[in-house]
Amino acid sequence: MGGVQASYAGDGVVIIDAHCHAGTGDGLSGPWDTSAPLTAYLRRADAAGITNTVVFAPLTSDYERANREVARLVARDPQRFLGFAFVNPVRDRGRIAAMVGLAVDAWGFAGIKVHWHDGRMTREIADVARARRLPVLYDPRGDTATVETVAGAYPDVAWIIPHLSSFADDWKAQVAFVDQLARLPNVFTDTSGVRYFDLLADAARRAGPHKILFGSDGPFLHPGVELAKVRALALDPEGRALVLGGNLRRLVRPVRRARKPGRGAVRPQRLGPSVARLRSAGL
Ligand SMILES: [Zn+2]
Repeated sequence: MGGVQASYAGDGVVIIDAHCHAGTGDGLSGPWDTSAPLTAYLRRADAAGITNTVVFAPLTSDYERANREVARLVARDPQRFLGFAFVNPVRDRGRIAAMVGLAVDAWGFAGIKVHWHDGRMTREIADVARARRLPVLYDPRGDTATVETVAGAYPDVAWIIPHLSSFADDWKAQVAFVDQLARLPNVFTDTSGVRYFDLLADAARRAGPHKILFGSDGPFLHPGVELAKVRALALDPEGRALVLGGNLRRLVRPVRRARKPGRGAVRPQRLGPSVARLRSAGL
């Protein structure tokens, strides 16, 4: 991907987009459950200097098929893409371990994605996340009570709650969530789709940059526009490096280490912010 080379050559910075959809859905009610093509996304990401992307399916009724589609994308450029396995808490009940196991062991996926539209978080999913040492990217639609219960019940699982908990700009939920982000050590967020910038700044100040991941919600949102918000936070270089990739790498390290004994010994502080080193780590 020559564009990436060109875009990061100037400053040598790794930027990981921790939230991007890819593939097709069957809902046909909007882009979020119909189609997530990456052509424009990749052009925009390259131009913005985004070097790596976490990808998972759009909403759909069949995540076994959709995850497979994501796996094919990841296989085409495993240095650029990292997959998360999308599961439906209701429809996929009883086969979460099998679906996630396939995604991790065969395709190298490193996280679980769950969306409120499909159902609320379940112990089945959390148990699999715990057993496989996977972070869970869980959109609760502003249901901060659920964040409280799952984070408390599974303190050893990393919960990434995107959009400060609400893609729909539920300011009250986001305010409540920032408190949780600051208080609960295993709760993280991503920046995708957050419009109330002062809440994002609050989160960075109160919870700290180590709790925040840059994410774009591409291809539905423009990754360069989303990235501009992170730059506007004006974090110190260390904090910015965490938001732009260090946190994601830390959260996926346990599963990658478990899957590839010997290769997971690469430490991020040794890696430093360079794509070449990141790529040698296999991300
Ligand atoms: Zn999303």
